[in-house]
Amino acid sequence: MKLQEYHAKTLLSRAGLPVPPYSVASTVAEARDQSAAYLDAGAFAVVVKAQVLVGGRGKAGGVKLARSADEAEAAAEAILGMDIKGITVRRVLVAPGADIVRELYLAAVLDRTEQRIMLMGSAEGGVEIETLAQEEPDAIAQIHAHAQLGLQPFQAREMAFRLGLGDHLRQAAAICTGLVKVMTDEDADLVEINPLAVVREDGPDGPVETLQLLDAKITLDDSALGRHPGHEEMRDLDEEDPADIEARAADLSFIRLDGDIGCMVNGAGLAMTTMDLVKRAGGEPANFLDIGGGARSDKVAEAMRLILSDSSVKAILVNIFGGIARGDEVARGLVAARSQQTRSVPMVVRIVGTNADIAAKILEEGGGDIVSAESLDEAVEKAVQLAGSVNA
Ligand code: GDP
Ligand code: MN
Repeated sequence: MKLQEYHAKTLLSRAGLPVPPYSVASTVAEARDQSAAYLDAGAFAVVVKAQVLVGGRGKAGGVKLARSADEAEAAAEAILGMDIKGITVRRVLVAPGADIVRELYLAAVLDRTEQRIMLMGSAEGGVEIETLAQEEPDAIAQIHAHAQLGLQPFQAREMAFRLGLGDHLRQAAAICTGLVKVMTDEDADLVEINPLAVVREDGPDGPVETLQLLDAKITLDDSALGRHPGHEEMRDLDEEDPADIEARAADLSFIRLDGDIGCMVNGAGLAMTTMDLVKRAGGEPANFLDIGGGARSDKVAEAMRLILSDSSVKAILVNIFGGIARGDEVARGLVAARSQQTRSVPMVVRIVGTNADIAAKILEEGGGDIVSAESLDEAVEKAVQLAGSVNA
């Protein structure tokens, strides 16, 4: 689950990291009031930022600096309702503008191969990290945290020096340690700060430079959401695929893909195998879908609706290995879904195992044009053929 910048900043500031103050506005008037308050409090400018779950908001015109309440109002006017990569901006973040001296990149990511959290840093912030990784991989420092002990103090200092932050050693090291700690404490799989900025501020004895987290991106591990009661509330349903929302409500593991053969399978391993076989037979799966162990007929019907809601699906392949899942329950769900469907899509069904014989009868009596298959290979071949004939 991806978090909006303002939610990410909530988690980071809660962890004691230096995040500039911010507020969230969903109307132009709110944005103006909040801006006026920051400016009255002495900010030389405010920044108004679109809250959408896509990168490159700055380039798209979704980040604007304003020096007066009027300018802030105009900025909010322009950004609210703006379309950024297909997403309509519904909220903006308003914050006192930072006087940036330098921009850097710092992120904690999950290195699955090393099975550890890796800290990635670059002195060249503001640049897109993907571009930098390709063109100048040496410009990115990588340090792996200890699996049990976390990021060690010497590692945090090493990263600080490699980023050229020797003058800010204490603060830079604390930020490095903090990002890794947020990764662990919140069960995140990405905590990215771009830019981490050296910012000039007025101190009692003249200008001072400090580090601040100006932008933040956090991705949470979906499987760990249950351990964090507050996290679910941060989900932004406006920006989720409706199919994902439906799948979650029905407790189905569903991932949409680019192909045209809808797959309904029980068990993650069998679902992967089925997708491989579809590919081998020259087809393209439209989704990964695992209906789970003891799926009842209503869940099957829900899964079928989900598959059919994808207009690019040209054929459906059902592959059930009845163990805990009963073939007859699945067959009943299929027949129910078939009778309600508004779009006619050819369907190939292979059900073996528990109650496969009853399933076959149910499909024969109520399934209409459902094509049955004995073996998995046969089922896959037929599904690919049917999708092809619809394509032709
Ligand atoms: P992104 O484009 O979606 O990554 O949004 P960012 O929050 O990273 O903003 C993009 C750029 O806007 C940053 O790299 C900064 O150069 C600039 N920016 C963001 N906030 C401020 C700010 O408070 N003051 C100034 N001067 N520039 C800012
Ligand atoms: Mn950014």
